[in-house]
Amino acid sequence: RPENDHVDYQELLDAATAAARRTRGTGHVADYIPALARVDPDAFGMAIATVEGDVYGAGEWEQPFSIQSVSKLLTLTLVLAQGGDDVWQRVGREPSGNPFNSLVQLETEHGIPRNPFINAGAVVVTDRLHSLTGGHAAEAVLDFVRTESGNPDLAIDPEVAASEAEHGHRNAALAHFIASHGNLVNSVETVLTEYYAHCAIAASCRDLAQTGLVLARHGLRVDGSRLLSRSEAKRINAILLTCGTYDAAGEFAYRVGLPGKSGVGGGILAILPGQAAICAWGPALDPAGNSVAAVAALDAFTTLSGLSIF
Ligand code: GLU
Repeated sequence: RPENDHVDYQELLDAATAAARRTRGTGHVADYIPALARVDPDAFGMAIATVEGDVYGAGEWEQPFSIQSVSKLLTLTLVLAQGGDDVWQRVGREPSGNPFNSLVQLETEHGIPRNPFINAGAVVVTDRLHSLTGGHAAEAVLDFVRTESGNPDLAIDPEVAASEAEHGHRNAALAHFIASHGNLVNSVETVLTEYYAHCAIAASCRDLAQTGLVLARHGLRVDGSRLLSRSEAKRINAILLTCGTYDAAGEFAYRVGLPGKSGVGGGILAILPGQAAICAWGPALDPAGNSVAAVAALDAFTTLSGLSIF
């Protein structure tokens, strides 16, 4: 399909939704905290926001869900936007091949997390953002999503954040291990509080697709001002492609062919550079932690339309 051909996004969304519905009954809702385990496994929504300013939706596309690790993309964006690229001395850019909460590589790599999109890396990025914002990391992420989505009502779900902290032994272990190597500036307690707070933002497919447009617009914000250089936006998209979907990034690139970030709340935000941002949500997860329905929907979308980065 030539790039400037007319694309019927609504028709594509309907076909993608049908593909998502066919996955019903597969996968499991994240149950490591009670607040996430309560979500209806069959819920599904999908939204596409285009660089022209149009928004299309299907299913429960305006229903807020816990964004969880999708926030890792937002923290990295804000750190780079605020000149924090020294963060690359403290976190790598290679896929991990290990689960998102793995401790193994941290030991062999001396407290330098493999990439910004596994928990260990996101903790370091949150630490950097906290310093850059004068102590307001989570608030900066929330403000950013509110502004880009045009939805001032977005909020952090306090129950999810508290529940994460209560069940956060593994993240605390990661953070303490990183701190033991001198790779945290703020206290472990502070950084984890901020990390749990931005993970616990509740937002809809519509909100996230509109926020993701910053990367589709090669770094421009909704008001037309520049947040990231074109090259920074390219780099974030590259890391999304190689590291954005846990240790299944290879499979996601193969099936979907777009940079994307998933979260255990079941959301995936994918970027079609120069054209659109797409968010799909379905709470049931595959063994790698990616939403079964969202992957199926994005797979159908790119396969039917030919709209991928390849
Ligand atoms: N808050 C979650 C955790 O740290 C995020 C996990 C995720 O979405 O990958 O365990």
